[in-house]
Amino acid sequence: MSTNKREHKDGIWIIITKDRIVQFVDQPGLIRTHWSELDFAHAYEDQVEKLESHKDEPVYLLDMGAEQLTASHVESVSLRAMLMQIDISLFNLVAKAWQRTVFLRTHRFCGQCGSTMTRVDWELATLCHQCGHRCYPRVSPCIIVAIRKDDKILLAQGKPQQARQMHSVLAGFVEGGETLEQAVHREVMEEVGIRVKNLRYFSSQPWPFPHSLMVGFFAEYDSGDIVVDGKEILEASWYAKDELPNIPPKFSIAGQLIAKTLEDIAE
Ligand SMILES: [Zn+2]
Repeated sequence: MSTNKREHKDGIWIIITKDRIVQFVDQPGLIRTHWSELDFAHAYEDQVEKLESHKDEPVYLLDMGAEQLTASHVESVSLRAMLMQIDISLFNLVAKAWQRTVFLRTHRFCGQCGSTMTRVDWELATLCHQCGHRCYPRVSPCIIVAIRKDDKILLAQGKPQQARQMHSVLAGFVEGGETLEQAVHREVMEEVGIRVKNLRYFSSQPWPFPHSLMVGFFAEYDSGDIVVDGKEILEASWYAKDELPNIPPKFSIAGQLIAKTLEDIAE
């Protein structure tokens, strides 16, 4: 749903170019201003979409595609960098806008017959008028689990964490035909070779890299010795509260799972 010129007012602007988000050089974070101040984006006015409001503040989304930014007062940052610097209350908003953009960019043609898809105007979907195929944004469930053994927590390092010098809890995609619980047992066995028991649900978090839904669990160690798979997981061990390596930030469900497990250990 495009908005017309009269509706562009003050608000929060999530402006995406390539795979990055635009911000003012002298004011890092999401852009909060009036449309008239965004000269660099005016050629894309037809593409502006109004999303839901954030605490009464209108939120606009603009996908500038592969446009190169040339204005000196704006720059683009990675999604991860943007999420690290904004208030946690804006996390889901940005995640949603990002996933919406990725969906629309990647569903321009029908996966069944190759015809051009059109947007459905009453829900977020694309439709092929040639063969009737309809697509909705993809959501990929992924389990994430904090495993406790006495007063220690299992933290592991995979390739992505190695680049960031970080250790985290285990996570993995749910396979077709599998329950969330089965995915936890399978991933833990595959990645570190141990059995777990007493699974408890924690919470969930949309994770826009690019369309995961992280479903968090607590588990207790049951049996076996840690043997890493060497592919997804390079190193894993049990850590006590006072000897923690570098762990994920609190805005992530991984960070929250670790914090809650350590809290439970302290009790
Ligand atoms: Zn089709």
